[in-house]
Amino acid sequence: MAKIRSVRGMNDIPPKEVLSWVYAEEIIRSTFSSYGYQEIRFPVVESTELFSRSNQASDMVSKEMYTFEDKGGDSISLRPEGTASCVRACIDNDLIRIDSPRLWYNGPMFRYERPQKGRSRQFHQSSVEVFGIHGPEIDAEIIQLSSRLWKKLGIEENVYLEINSIGNENTRLNYTKDLLEFFAPLRENLDDDLVRKLHENPLRILDSKSPEIQSLLKGAPKITDYLDEESENHFRKLINILEMLGISYAVNPNLVRGLDYYNKTVFEWKTSSLGSQDTVCAGGRYDNLIEELGGKACPAIGFSIGMERLILLLQDSGDSKLVEDQSVDCFFVCFGDESILKAMVLAEQIRDRIPNLNLKVNLGSESAGSQFKKADKSGARFALVLGDTELEDKVISCKDLREKSEQETMDIESLIDKLENSFKK
Ligand code: ATP
Ligand code: MG
Repeated sequence: MAKIRSVRGMNDIPPKEVLSWVYAEEIIRSTFSSYGYQEIRFPVVESTELFSRSNQASDMVSKEMYTFEDKGGDSISLRPEGTASCVRACIDNDLIRIDSPRLWYNGPMFRYERPQKGRSRQFHQSSVEVFGIHGPEIDAEIIQLSSRLWKKLGIEENVYLEINSIGNENTRLNYTKDLLEFFAPLRENLDDDLVRKLHENPLRILDSKSPEIQSLLKGAPKITDYLDEESENHFRKLINILEMLGISYAVNPNLVRGLDYYNKTVFEWKTSSLGSQDTVCAGGRYDNLIEELGGKACPAIGFSIGMERLILLLQDSGDSKLVEDQSVDCFFVCFGDESILKAMVLAEQIRDRIPNLNLKVNLGSESAGSQFKKADKSGARFALVLGDTELEDKVISCKDLREKSEQETMDIESLIDKLENSFKK
C-alpha cells in the first residue's frame, strides 16, 4: 500500500521536538498563572456562524476556514482562532456578567493557508483574553505579561513591540474614506488581491508585506490622526504606563489586525529572525465583540502567541536545555521470558515506592551489549540488570552508566534505598 502521509500543512511534532514545546508551555502556563489568569478550554469545532459573524470581511473567514457539513446537515468549522470561541464559551457559561475574568488557553487552530516556515494549516496559539476592564491599565498588563514571558524564555533580545490605536468605528470610517481617496489614483500599482482588499477591508492594505505598497504608504494618511478623543486618551495613557513600566515600544501607525472585531489598542511582538513570518504575538482590544455575539456589552482585550514561531525562535536561540531528553532515569536490562516478567513486577514495586522515577523496562531479546547501548542512549543514569544469576539469587545488579564504578548487586529493598537517595529532589 502506498505510504499515507499527514494532510498538507498539518505537522507532526516528534518526541525530540516536543521537549521544546513542553519547555515553552510550562513557562507560559506559570507566567499566566503568576498574573492571576485562569485556564479555560473549549472545543476545536464550532458553528460556522460564530466565526463568519465575528469576522465577515477577513481573509481568514472568506478563504482560510475549514468548513464542513456534519451528518445532521449543520455547518461547522474547525476553529481558525480562539477569541470568538472564548467569547462564546464565556457567554454560554455566564462567566462575564458576574465577573471580569482574565483567562488563558492554548491549543490547535486551523487555517487553509500556503504552508511555509512559521505558517502551517494546523498551528497552535497560546492566548489570553480579559473581559470587563475599560481602562488602558489592562492593555498595559497583558503587554507587561508578554514581556515577562519573553524574558523567562530568554528571547527578549529577539523580539520588539509595536503598538497602534485604530480608534472607534467612526475613526475607521473617516480614515478609510481618506485612504481610499489616497489610493484611487494609484490603482494601477496594486495587484488584484490588494484591489479586492481595498474594496472589502481597506485597512488590511496597511499591513501588506509588499515593499512597493509599504513605500506608497509612507505618503498615506495615518490612522492615529483620526482618533476620537476617548481612543486618543486611552492610547496616550497606555503609552505613559508602558514608559513607567520601562517597556520599550514603537508606535507603528500602519499596524492593524487581520480580524474585523478590533478597536482602540492593537499591538504585535515581532522578530527579525524569522523572515516574513515575523509576528510572534498579536493582540488588541475588541470592545464590541461580546455584544455582537449575543452577550451583554463588555470591554475586552487579548493576544495570541503563534507557538510554531515561538518554538522556531527558541530553537534558534540554541538553549541546550531544550534538547536534553531526561525522560528515563533507569533502564531495566533483562534476558528471556522469565527475566522480563520478573523485571516488570520489580519495576512496578519500584514505581510504587518512588513515584517520580522514570523507569523503562526493555521488552525484547537483544544481547546484553545492545541493551546497554539502548540504556545509554535513553539518558538513564542506572542500568538495572536481571540475568540468570540475579534471578537465581533473587537480587538485581545496578550499574551507574554515568560514572565509572563497579556494577553492584543487591536485593530489591537496598536497590530502592539506593535509587531513593540518588534521585532525591
Ligand atoms: P499573519 O499575518 O502571519 O497571517 P494573522 O494576522 O493572520 O498573522 P492572527 O490571526 O493575529 O494572525 O494570529 C496570531 C498569531 O498566530 C500570529 O501572529 C502568528 O504568530 C500565529 N499564526 C497565525 N496564522 C498562523 C499560521 N497559519 N501558522 C502558524 N502561525 C500562525
Ligand atoms: Mg493570516
